[in-house]
Amino acid sequence: MRPTFLPYNQPEVGEDEWRAVGEAIMSRWITRGRLTQQLEEALADYLGVPEVVGLSSCTAGLHLALMAAGVGPGDEVISTPMTFAASINVIDQVGAKPVLVDVDEDTGNLNLDLVEQAITRRTKAVLPVHYGGHSVDLVRLNRIRDRWGLAIIEDAAHALGSRHDGHLVGSSGNLTAFSFYATKNLTTGEGGALVVPDAAMAERIRALSLHGLSRNAWNRYSEGGDWRYDVMAPGYKYNMTDIEAAMGLTQWAKFEAMQQKRAQLASHYQQRLRLLPVVVPAVRPGFDHAWHLFPIHLRLDVMSKTRDQVIEELRRRNIGTAVHFIPIPHFTYYQRRYGFKPNDFPHAETFYASEISLPLYPSMSFEDVDDVVDALAESVGD
Ligand SMILES: *Cc1c(COP(=O)(O)O)cnc(C)c1O
Repeated sequence: MRPTFLPYNQPEVGEDEWRAVGEAIMSRWITRGRLTQQLEEALADYLGVPEVVGLSSCTAGLHLALMAAGVGPGDEVISTPMTFAASINVIDQVGAKPVLVDVDEDTGNLNLDLVEQAITRRTKAVLPVHYGGHSVDLVRLNRIRDRWGLAIIEDAAHALGSRHDGHLVGSSGNLTAFSFYATKNLTTGEGGALVVPDAAMAERIRALSLHGLSRNAWNRYSEGGDWRYDVMAPGYKYNMTDIEAAMGLTQWAKFEAMQQKRAQLASHYQQRLRLLPVVVPAVRPGFDHAWHLFPIHLRLDVMSKTRDQVIEELRRRNIGTAVHFIPIPHFTYYQRRYGFKPNDFPHAETFYASEISLPLYPSMSFEDVDDVVDALAESVGD
């Protein structure tokens, strides 16, 4: 047994981030400014899109995206039960009705046949989640968008660097929100970014992220700034800060290397797990996985232990794990407000009941992966 606890997740931050954040502080410009703009530009270049807006979180991005798409009371938004509460909370917060449809059993992503069947006159948008870093079928999703004239708001919290058909998630003209939360593949501590299809909408999103103040008001205390400003709409306080962006730019410089290490660790897991009664994460042909998660499924049909027992056994063997996700219909608020029942989403239920997310992050060694697999081999036995 390994002598020390292997945490489920650990952000890849150290002296470089510490120095960059220190420099941002010493510049005395600590809120939205030049560094935030630099991070926005780096991401826009990478994705090949005109506009990316730095924000305080992915959740803020999803919220502003729904507002920018004009989603409100009376509208329906089709989404997935297999996500974090944030994706569905924002639909409720703009006064629209979340309509959930079941997921594909292999990827845990929205089943696009069911999405099409759920479209009504009230449907205004689809909010898919690229579960674990495996993209939704973007070709088919965008065909649905064009055929029915829907807004697509992608929850890409797991999917920076994920590709379908060679195209990066975030590059297909949809409002796409990324998360830079502590556990995500690129982190600013707390933070996020929203890909916006055009400059006019980006200006509106930037304004909404800063109290609804008019253009360049973020700049009002600088030497060239103007003290005058107008309020265009009752906005929110969702802007990114330059302290966060300083960390983000440092992370950005090593993003490809971090992604490569994740892919190598994932590949090592795949090989080592072959003899165990588990199903490794699906990677469909034509998809490049971003490996935010390494979600395995226990073959409960050939085991006597439950998933929860295996998690406990792993913990006793010094291995941290997580579960992604408790499906939305399990939560009291969503049951009461919308009448969701877990059994209405049978694939999400089986996906959830057998799922364990194993540790996967760049500072892990291949020996760490071996430790996890060895502990799992002991934990699944009788
Ligand atoms: C982490 C996460 C979010 C929320 O991201 P924040 O940046 O913390 O707001 C949203 N959706 C999914 C699927 C996530 O995993």
